[in-house]
Amino acid sequence: MTLEEEEQLRAENANLKAQVADLKAQFAQLSEKLAQVQAQSAQNSHNSSKPSLSDGFNRPPKNPKERSLRQITGKKTGGQAGHEDHHLAWDAKPDQVITSDLAECSNCHTDLSQVEPIRFRSRQVLDLPPELKLYTVEHQANTKACPKCS
Ligand SMILES: [Zn+2]
Repeated sequence: MTLEEEEQLRAENANLKAQVADLKAQFAQLSEKLAQVQAQSAQNSHNSSKPSLSDGFNRPPKNPKERSLRQITGKKTGGQAGHEDHHLAWDAKPDQVITSDLAECSNCHTDLSQVEPIRFRSRQVLDLPPELKLYTVEHQANTKACPKCS
């Protein structure tokens, strides 16, 4: 390759790089424009403040049943026979237990820290931690009778 040829290729390469950058910018602009147009065309009188006359021929069906994408299978609705029942049962061994002690009477603010609880109630919050393992937090709270006002 002669020096002249190399020079020419360098110039051509720079030119192509500039064109690619230009096209990238245009593509970004057009993508943005397309997203705007798609958002606008998705709007109709049912999901925006547009009047129903503006729907034209793309009028959405009035009856929501007409919009169902569910295929008719002839099966009964709901859980099918033989389907294993899944529900979130009470976890006897929660991963974490948070106890909250009623510190004062909600009515007269008497200090209840030394008062024996008369009742406990627990609730469990089931959540998926980032490592996708069921993690149970049991919240245990007590109810106390205020010696002063009850
Ligand atoms: Zn009280």
